[in-house]
Amino acid sequence: MEDKFFDQCGIFGIYSTEIDVAQAAYLGLYALQHRGQESAGIAVSDNNNFTFHKGMGLVQRVFNEDNLNNLKGTLAVGHVRYSTSGESRIENAQPVVVQYKKGNMAVAHNGNIVNAQEIKIKLEEEGSIFQSTVDSEVIVHLIARSKEPNIREALKEALKFVKGAYSLVLMTENEVIGVRDPSAFRPLCIGTIGNSYCIASESCALEQIGAQYIRPVEPNEMVVIDKNGLSSYPLDQPQKRSMCIFELIYLSRPDSIVFGKSVYLTRKEFGRILAKEHSVEADLVIPIPDSGIPAAIGYSEASKIPYDMGLLRNHYVGRTFIQPDSFFRSSKVRIKLSPVSEMIKGKRVVIVDDSIVRGTTSKEIVKMLKNAGAKEIHLLVSSPPINYPCFYGIDTPNREELIAAKYENNIQEIKKYLGADSVHYLSIDGLLSVMGKDSSDYCLACFNGKYPVPPTDFQNNVLQSKC
Ligand code: SF4
Repeated sequence: MEDKFFDQCGIFGIYSTEIDVAQAAYLGLYALQHRGQESAGIAVSDNNNFTFHKGMGLVQRVFNEDNLNNLKGTLAVGHVRYSTSGESRIENAQPVVVQYKKGNMAVAHNGNIVNAQEIKIKLEEEGSIFQSTVDSEVIVHLIARSKEPNIREALKEALKFVKGAYSLVLMTENEVIGVRDPSAFRPLCIGTIGNSYCIASESCALEQIGAQYIRPVEPNEMVVIDKNGLSSYPLDQPQKRSMCIFELIYLSRPDSIVFGKSVYLTRKEFGRILAKEHSVEADLVIPIPDSGIPAAIGYSEASKIPYDMGLLRNHYVGRTFIQPDSFFRSSKVRIKLSPVSEMIKGKRVVIVDDSIVRGTTSKEIVKMLKNAGAKEIHLLVSSPPINYPCFYGIDTPNREELIAAKYENNIQEIKKYLGADSVHYLSIDGLLSVMGKDSSDYCLACFNGKYPVPPTDFQNNVLQSKC
């Protein structure tokens, strides 16, 4: 596994009488594949009946011509999943599709509900039976139990009980509803194609189907797409915004617009600020591909140190198994990345990465570049030191495994462990300077431990043991 934070899920929804909605959802999920590779699913409504298909694995493995052709309708909701809550099994694949007293409903969720266990225990005591171990199912139960006359009011009521991170796409027989939690942790945006509307985690999914990006779903907003077009309703739970800054650092695709910002340009700017904060005497700037590329370009432009590709990524590697005492003394890092020796031999090299989590991959890369002949290695990181785990839908290791926390942010100790000649991180102030006037609207909990929403389920056990 790569030494990175892992995104959790990608979601997509569309209402259209003009195009094949199952195909649109399929293509949208393809574009969102980086947000989850464990399972994929699409549910479709023809205004009366629901059909759906879900499976384990990548989108290209789960769907084929036959099962896509069976999904006929004018509304669709799709989901790709990487498990952060609940185990990796087919029962946990989304969308969650249920039949209840008022009809059918399919729900796709991105984020993590921090009081899901608390709610689940109460509901089970009152007789509810859960089909899966995913946190999203509590929303479905709360909606099904509501006495409100329609789905919009029932959803609003359900969300009053739920705390944490949720971007949702919900489909009934005749409407697609998109919701973003009041803190707005996870992204969700709206696009238009022809006379139709669609919703997706990131704008790259809109681009993929030829839709035009319109705007983000606002925090605390419910948007409804139906035969009348697009309408918006407030959720009545105003709260300070805490958008996940890691979406802009690493998680989202660089060609996306997230939280209204170009991910690529934002990362490049992180690199420029990093160069202003830490100037290093060096001959060459190289990125850790692919995620470090925009920041490395920014660093090179601001520092005037030439940029080049000193490391190449093998894009055809899936999961690998390596014997620990293999004769070839290979490693997972060496299978994925290889140095361009002629480029780096005898040079003082700046390597730019977007983040360091455990430090295991960075250590291997430094060693690999030194073995390839680099004279000096300076590791520049375009985000601040990660000191705390995330409880809002990102897969992170325990606190004791985070290299910055383990060495209590002692840069000399971190440098020694990694084997680099110097190590420099972007400061929190530097990071926020790129966000401009919105700088107070972001969650920084994995850097500073200030959790904007108390992680209720974890406070008595996981949080204590992790932090
Ligand atoms: S803790 Fe970090 S990864 Fe989690 S939501 Fe906040 S900024 Fe994002």
